[in-house]
Amino acid sequence: MKIPFSPPYIDQDVINEVVDTLQSGWITTGPKVKALETEVEKLTGAPNALCVNSWTSGAILILKWFGIGEGDEVIIPAYTYSATALAVLHCGAKPVMVDVNDDFTVNVNQVATAITDKTKIIMPVDIAGLPCDYAALHNLVMDPEVVAKFRPASYNQQKLGRILVLSDAAHSIGAFYDSKPTGILADITIFSFHAVKNITTAEGGAICINLPEPFDNEEEYKTMRLWTLNGQTKDAFTKSQGGASSWKYDIIFQGLKINMPDLCAALGLAQIRKYDQVIMPERKRVAERYHEFFKQKSWAQLPVMEDEHRKSCYHLYALRINDITEQERDEMMTKVAEDGISVNVHFMPMPLLTLFKNLGYNINDFPVAYDNYAREISLPIYPQLTDVQIDSICSSIENAYHKIAQKVL
Ligand SMILES: *Cc1c(COP(=O)(O)O)cnc(C)c1O
Repeated sequence: MKIPFSPPYIDQDVINEVVDTLQSGWITTGPKVKALETEVEKLTGAPNALCVNSWTSGAILILKWFGIGEGDEVIIPAYTYSATALAVLHCGAKPVMVDVNDDFTVNVNQVATAITDKTKIIMPVDIAGLPCDYAALHNLVMDPEVVAKFRPASYNQQKLGRILVLSDAAHSIGAFYDSKPTGILADITIFSFHAVKNITTAEGGAICINLPEPFDNEEEYKTMRLWTLNGQTKDAFTKSQGGASSWKYDIIFQGLKINMPDLCAALGLAQIRKYDQVIMPERKRVAERYHEFFKQKSWAQLPVMEDEHRKSCYHLYALRINDITEQERDEMMTKVAEDGISVNVHFMPMPLLTLFKNLGYNINDFPVAYDNYAREISLPIYPQLTDVQIDSICSSIENAYHKIAQKVL
């Protein structure tokens, strides 16, 4: 039996929506993108959502919109996919890494300690689909002592008057914190619609704009949309609508070119329409079946799926093995792969990667991140998995554990 790690969810409705786009005669940014933005707003309650061509480009847009550059600091967890830090580096600013909690989310006490008068943004990451402690983060950025340290150096920094909370919600569309959905838990939230994410447009992302007064979110949506289109006042779709002077446009600032095509939006549109009712419940079914099996094993540490405040959207099933070394974990994964089952690790903490090592980050400063990583195995989790497949993944992991960690030959 071959079990892939994370195939995209492509059913007849997805195919129909894509074909419909192809036959409509309009394939780049237009009505399907608008429809997807409306669905994201409906799902999250965010005042405005803007589609872009990746999480990474969306993050660069927001950092630039906020005026981030050389000399600025952005606090991020050491345990995330590198894009979180790379977006900061692309803008010339410094990613300040802090350690995480046992549940993989950022340690807010460490965030507090890392704040300086150069801190402009905190970027928490909802690893595996479990929201960070947003109440604590909100209290932190509103704390009068922290506000007093803030040194605004751009128009939007001045207007906000405090550190911006920018949520890396690449994993967490559909998750909840205190009954509020991701999308309205931070000032700005960015989802990824990359091929392996819960909802996909092949490549893509969405920015949820939830800024406080005196910001006008609709106005910021319009400005950010210009940012996605080279700062050009009319997009191709508007120009295509005809009229005597419809060809005329202006370039009003130096933007990026990171708009999402309708052809991509069509995939996500068909998926998001059944996200609440089909896709997420199916992912939950998989997670619960894993839980049933692994909770009986003293050697397994179950991921947090739900607690008093939070509800995951089941993006990853991040199993950890107790009392195991990084090398034994790798050997277990090799054994499981021999059974035709693809498993993964999320993530290598960034200080283990060459770029970040060369920049001076040291894994010894992030002991919890390292321990989480060294004992972690991400199991396949997606709607298409059958109960029979889930059971064979469970026994493959168990066999691998007995062979490797207990040295049973
Ligand atoms: C996937 C991912 C990203 C990057 O998303 P792209 O859409 O591929 O740019 C960022 N952060 C995390 C945590 C991710 O898993």
